Amino acid sequence: MAYDYDLFVIGAGSGGVRASRIAAGYGARVGICEDYRVGGTCVIRGCVPKKLLVYGSKYAHEFEDSAAYGWTVGEPAHSWATLRDNVSKEVDRLNGVYIRLLEGSDVRIHMGRGRLMDRHTIEVGGESVTADKILIATGGRPEVPPIPGHEFAITSNEAFHLPDPLPRRITIVGGGYIAVEFAGIFHGLGCEVDIVIRRDRVLRGFDEECRTFVHDALKASGIRIRSETEIQRIQATVDEKGGRHPPYKLHTPLGGVFETDLVMYATGRVPNTHGIGLEKAGVQLDKAGAVAVDEWSKTTADNIWAVGDVTDRIALTPVALMEGHCFADTEFGNKPRKADHRNVPSAVFCQPEMANVGLTEEEARRTLGELRVYSSAFTPMKHTLAGRRQRTFMKLIVEAATDRVVGCHMVGDDAAELIQGLAVAVKAGATKAQFDATVGIHPTAGEEFVTMRTPRPEPAPRKAAAE
Ligand code: NDP
Repeated sequence: MAYDYDLFVIGAGSGGVRASRIAAGYGARVGICEDYRVGGTCVIRGCVPKKLLVYGSKYAHEFEDSAAYGWTVGEPAHSWATLRDNVSKEVDRLNGVYIRLLEGSDVRIHMGRGRLMDRHTIEVGGESVTADKILIATGGRPEVPPIPGHEFAITSNEAFHLPDPLPRRITIVGGGYIAVEFAGIFHGLGCEVDIVIRRDRVLRGFDEECRTFVHDALKASGIRIRSETEIQRIQATVDEKGGRHPPYKLHTPLGGVFETDLVMYATGRVPNTHGIGLEKAGVQLDKAGAVAVDEWSKTTADNIWAVGDVTDRIALTPVALMEGHCFADTEFGNKPRKADHRNVPSAVFCQPEMANVGLTEEEARRTLGELRVYSSAFTPMKHTLAGRRQRTFMKLIVEAATDRVVGCHMVGDDAAELIQGLAVAVKAGATKAQFDATVGIHPTAGEEFVTMRTPRPEPAPRKAAAE
């Protein structure tokens, strides 16, 4: 049977766009559909606009610190409208770049929601198209717990389009990537920021020392962290006409109440699996509610694959790119290649920034034998002159038996840039001796990674519990 396409991709985000372009490059006839904007979460309302906002928010510190370097800067004033609109324009530009990239690769774009009708038929924008192979790359979306008043809360989706001026007080619920990144953005732009977390510290899952370092640094910067608490109800102010608006009263357990002007939930994202006809095509979900895939990204349907955040692997843009690329190489390029999810570096663009590659100390202790752990905390040179009390933390985890560096962690300026370079070494299996044999670049923070000589004393082995 002749199909309209060799490959049809549902979702034009990072994973979908990469897979379609590579497949088309191998000569496949490719169609792609998108129901929001080409570019997906990362480009349109995620990593890219977020990073621009982080840049914008950092100027507050730069202006303050410049005095020690002899600059006189007048009273700084910030226009949220200017930053927001400039970021929006950049997103529009990138959206155009992505569309042109697809068109230039001969990938046909269908705007509209794609819905599987059977294993080879997709309905999009009232049209029915057929394809030999199908890729699901529909990503994820933020989820707000259904507490009373949840309709008053925003998510990261809306955070990029807030009206001007920004609210004076912002409360962010959650302690993951998005929560701490936006806390830094809003704080830098002059808002009073509260973070509400149900645990003792932010960033669960990261190296314990690093997350403590970030947690303490966020607090020291002036962000208030309300730990071990939850929001049970959001109560809006009601005007004479019955309209509901800020300020909001946030009710916590045991009768606590505090007030804020904006509530943002960053309590995790869920895969976009609803309303795309997965059941009609025999595509099953896993326990996490994501599309179940094997190591080749193949779903339970023989001609259907899934990549990116709609699967439950690592929810990061470069991982979706890798998965999409491997899929296209394997299915259309005659170059079978599995995505390798080991030693994926990542960064959290909070302030101070945190980045890592490899194992946390806790993971290494659970899975490996004896370790050597090296760490260093210091005030970076730039901050010494300005008197800014913001320290940098670095840590290397080495497997004693092999001397291999199995984890590399940093909290501090440019952590993401440094760790990206070190990720090559960790991925290549570099040993601590090879780190030591590497000459540093002076004066930098990064040279510390090749000059840490003395491991921290290892904890005494646990004694067997008394009978
Ligand atoms: P995360 O999974 O990182 O964090 C969710 C946070 O919300 C956790 O602190 C969690 O707490 C808390 N939480 C969950 N449910 C509730 C609840 N009902 N009440 C209170 N708190 C709750 O999610 P994010 O939304 O921050 O990010 C989603 C994904 O997007 C990330 O996993 C990441 O992969 C990706 N991302 C990556 C970025 C980057 O690379 N820089 C930037 C932004 C996002 P607890 O610890 O108690 O479970």
